[in-house]
Amino acid sequence: MTLSGDMLIGFASVRGTEGEQRAFNPASNTEIAEPVFGMGGGAEVDRAASLASEAFDVYRNVSLEKRAAFLEAIAENILELGDALIERAHAETGLPIARLQGERGRTVGQLRLFAKVVRDGHFLGATIDRAQPERQPLPRSDLRLAKVPLGPVAVFGASNFPLAFSVAGGDTASALAAGAPVIVKAHSAHLGTSELVGRAIQQAVKTQGLPEGTFSLLFGAGRKLGEALVSHPAIKAVGFTGSRQGGLALVRLANARPEPIPVYAEMSSINPVFLFPAALASRAETIGKTFSDSLTLGAGQFCTNPGLVLAVDGPDLERFIASASEALASKPAQTMLTPGIFDAYCSGTQSAGAVQGVQKVAEGEAAGERANAAQAALYVTDAARLLDSPELESEMFGPASVVVRARDFNELLEIAEHVEGQLTVTLQIDAADYPAAKRLLPVLERKAGRILANGFPTGVEVCHAMVHGGPHPSTSNAMYTSVGATAIDRFLRPVCYQDLPELLLPEALHDANPLGVWRIVDGEPGASL
Ligand code: NAP
Repeated sequence: MTLSGDMLIGFASVRGTEGEQRAFNPASNTEIAEPVFGMGGGAEVDRAASLASEAFDVYRNVSLEKRAAFLEAIAENILELGDALIERAHAETGLPIARLQGERGRTVGQLRLFAKVVRDGHFLGATIDRAQPERQPLPRSDLRLAKVPLGPVAVFGASNFPLAFSVAGGDTASALAAGAPVIVKAHSAHLGTSELVGRAIQQAVKTQGLPEGTFSLLFGAGRKLGEALVSHPAIKAVGFTGSRQGGLALVRLANARPEPIPVYAEMSSINPVFLFPAALASRAETIGKTFSDSLTLGAGQFCTNPGLVLAVDGPDLERFIASASEALASKPAQTMLTPGIFDAYCSGTQSAGAVQGVQKVAEGEAAGERANAAQAALYVTDAARLLDSPELESEMFGPASVVVRARDFNELLEIAEHVEGQLTVTLQIDAADYPAAKRLLPVLERKAGRILANGFPTGVEVCHAMVHGGPHPSTSNAMYTSVGATAIDRFLRPVCYQDLPELLLPEALHDANPLGVWRIVDGEPGASL
């Protein structure tokens, strides 16, 4: 498929007139000549939002089967793009081919998972409390609940997952599954990849006979287009993955609207890893080596990167540091996604290293002449320093981490209380550590969306039980997840129908349950009428 550099507004290819931009190859540090992308502005936001508004009532009312088939058609169309998609994504992001092939599999798997979620119908939350006309002292009305989509959703593609968290990524898949039209603002770090995937979705909208405004893809630079999108009255929710600054700016904007809307922003997390004494005593070297693998995966450009390691000081912790340092020393420098992200990594590591009482103990291989290539780094400090130095707690987006030596377990507890909200917390534990872990867990449950044992947090499974979310500032709304089947809940709200004639009710609430969905009837889960 030849790239045009045009936006996709409904079924139209639209040339943006608010400036031009070429994609950038971070590995060669040069612009990619073709095509030239035309940036959009307020007029294009308006056009896409009006189409999405028109499409909403039609799209949300197509059968669940048709909605599921649409998601599957998107998955098929993405696969049909073949190597062209992977090669373009590789050129625009510097991510290795194998990683991108894996990410494509995840993206397609995610769309298929949501097709299953849609067919299953459980997400509708269908609940029926039948009328009790004889009830004393007052009769009860017939009350029936089902969830409906919020309305058109704006999605900001993430830079670090050009497929799985971008144009057809988790936010788009879950919003479309909920019955919401989607308008994506492409991330400027992978415009060509975005156009290819956008065309795959546009094609699926056409072949499945869905309304034109079900999907649009916009290009915009300098924040203006993103701001116009979040401010547009037709937009009813926002999905975002990116910087803390960007996420919070969008939350403020959404709250300042005459009609505030939810922004589901996944922002920053340093993913503390607690090394417990028995685990360290029995396998400090192995933990050190596997930690360094997790830290450097994807040049550390994961929201779940293990950026903080905590343990009680002693010889076993020294063994861990020595092993992690040795493993890190042979990790090659890796190309980062954009020059901006590379610069942010360099200044973040410089600030951390400049804090008094912080020591750099290990480095990966140097980048040499390679542009935008991050050298891994490991720092060590003590608990008192961490508690005093907010810069040590900021996300260093890239392959860098800080090891903190605590005096005793109480100091570890103090740090656990002190750290901000996180996507994940990891425990390296053996059986002898369980009593101490049990003391820590209540604190960790308040701090993190996912608590894992004896692994590392990178690698987020897309499944029904996953939580990829957490308290501020890891996300802007700790009640939801952006990965996994329940990500659909972000774009739904419940409506209660009181005494409505059956003909006016959503099908999921008809007595005979024609959709065959799981329901709660008179308080009985899974019961039939
Ligand atoms: P970003 O700067 O937050 O940008 C993400 C998207 O949001 C872009 O499309 C950007 O549009 C838009 N945006 C940001 N601020 C905005 C605002 N105030 N108003 C309207 N739109 C806004 O993230 P990034 O470019 O991906 O990376 C920058 C840094 O974010 C990284 O160095 C890293 O620290 C962090 N990051 C974290 C994660 C994570 O998962 N935790 C993931 C990726 C990045 P424009 O292109 O118009 O600016």
